[in-house]
Amino acid sequence: MFEKILIANRGEIALRVIRACREMGIKSVAVHSTADADAMHVRMADESVCIGPPSGTQSYLSIPAIIAACEVTGAQAIHPGYGFLSENANFVQVVEDHGITFIGPTAEHIRVMGDKITAKDTMIKLGVPCVPGSDGGVPDLAAAKKLGEEMGYPVIIKATAGGGGRGMKVAKTAADMEEAFMTARAEGKAAFGNDEVYIEKYLTTPRHIEIQVFGDGKGNAVHLGERDCSLQRRHQKVFEEAPGPSITAEERAKIGKVCADAVAKINYIGAGTIEFLYENGEFYFIEMNTRLQVEHPVTEAIFGVDLVREQIRVAAGQPMSFGQNDLEINGHSIEVRINAEKLPNFAPCPGKITAYHAPGGLGVRMDSALYDGYSIPPYYDSLIGKLIVHGRGRAEALARLDRALGELIVDGIDTTLPLFSALLQEDDIHTGNYNIHWLEKWLEENMS
Ligand code: ADP
Repeated sequence: MFEKILIANRGEIALRVIRACREMGIKSVAVHSTADADAMHVRMADESVCIGPPSGTQSYLSIPAIIAACEVTGAQAIHPGYGFLSENANFVQVVEDHGITFIGPTAEHIRVMGDKITAKDTMIKLGVPCVPGSDGGVPDLAAAKKLGEEMGYPVIIKATAGGGGRGMKVAKTAADMEEAFMTARAEGKAAFGNDEVYIEKYLTTPRHIEIQVFGDGKGNAVHLGERDCSLQRRHQKVFEEAPGPSITAEERAKIGKVCADAVAKINYIGAGTIEFLYENGEFYFIEMNTRLQVEHPVTEAIFGVDLVREQIRVAAGQPMSFGQNDLEINGHSIEVRINAEKLPNFAPCPGKITAYHAPGGLGVRMDSALYDGYSIPPYYDSLIGKLIVHGRGRAEALARLDRALGELIVDGIDTTLPLFSALLQEDDIHTGNYNIHWLEKWLEENMS
C-alpha cells in the first residue's frame, strides 16, 4: 500500500480523500494556491505545498507544479478528486512517466471516454444502449440540417469535447438549426479547443439516471446501482438521490449488468459513472465520467462502502473489497449541492463566513471545507458543501433532509440553501415525479 498520497484538488473533495487516507494509515499531502493558504484541506493534510498563484491554470491545473510537489514530498500516488486534472489523459501520462501512480483509470480510458463521439462508439460496440443520433461527427451545417430532417426535431447539438453542461444546444425546429449548430461549435472551440460536434435526438421528458461502476483493472467489475440526478439547472445537477425513485429492481439489475460487463470487458480500473437518459422504460447512454463524481456519497450511503478507499486499494494493485453479491441496497439517500450563489439568479457570492454550524444526528453527513471565519475565494467553483442524508426509505430521507437543513447555518454570504427548503414544499419532490426539465420550469415559475 502507498505510504503517502498527494491530493491534486481543494475544497470538500480534498477533505474527502484526506479522510480516506487517514483511515487507511496513509499520509496525505495537500497542494494549494496562494489564495488557499488558510483552506481547510491545507490544515487537515499531514503536509502541504504551495503550488502557485490563485488562478487555477497556474496552480491546481499546473502539471509541472503538481509533479514537483510529489517529488519534493515523496508522495507515491496522486488522487485527482473531480474537476481540475481528474479527466486529463495527458496529466495521467505525465504522472506515470514520473513513476507516480495515478489513482484513477488509464490515460487511454480517459481519452476514449473524454471524447463523446469515441465514447459513444465504444459503448455501442460494448452493447450499451445509446441515444439515437449522428454516426460520429457532423462536418457542416448542410449535413446537420439534413440529419435534422431525417431524425425529426427536436435535436441536440453537442460538442464532442464538451462537459459541465457547456457546448450543448437544442434545435427545436429546422429554423433553430443554424444558430444551435454554430453556437455549439463555437462553445466547443472556445471552452475545449475542439469544434467537432455531433447530433442526438433530444428527449423531451427523460430522467437523468447514472450507473456507478467499479473495476479492478483485471477484468472484474461491479455496479453499485443508479443515482437519479434529474433535478438540474442549466444541465448541472443540484439534487441527487439513490436509488432512483422510478427504477425497479429488475431494471437496475439489467442495466447494472450491462454496465458492469462493459467496463469489465475493457479492463477498466477504479470508479466510473455511466450516464443515461431514461424515458418510457428505456435507457439511453449519454456519456461516461472516468472519475469519482460529486454525488458519490449517496451511493456510499445506501451500499455502506467507501468508494475512495476502494479507488486507493485498486490503484495499489489490491483486489476490490466487495463483489457484486456483497452489494445490497439499504434505504435511501439524498444529496443537495450547496453553492455560494445568490438566488434567484445564482450569481456567485464569495466572501467571508461569519458563522458556520454543520447539522448532525442519525443519517446526516456534511461534506464541506467551510469553517467559522473562512473567506471563500472568488477564483474557483462555487460548490461549498454537500449535505447528504440517509433514511430507511425515501420519505424518511426527505424528512431528515428538512430537519438537517433547519440545523445548518452558513452566515455571511448568500447560498443556494433556501432553494432546497422551498423544493421540499413541492408535492412532486415528495412523490419523485420529476424529469430533467422540472427544476428549470419550477425556477421560472417561482424564482424569476
Ligand atoms: P455534460 O458532459 O456537459 O455534463 P451530458 O452529455 O452529460 O453533458 O448531458 C448533461 C445533461 O444535458 C443531461 O443530464 C441532460 O439533462 C441534458 N441532455 C444531454 N443529452 C440530451 C438529449 N439527447 N436529450 C435531452 N437532454 C439531454
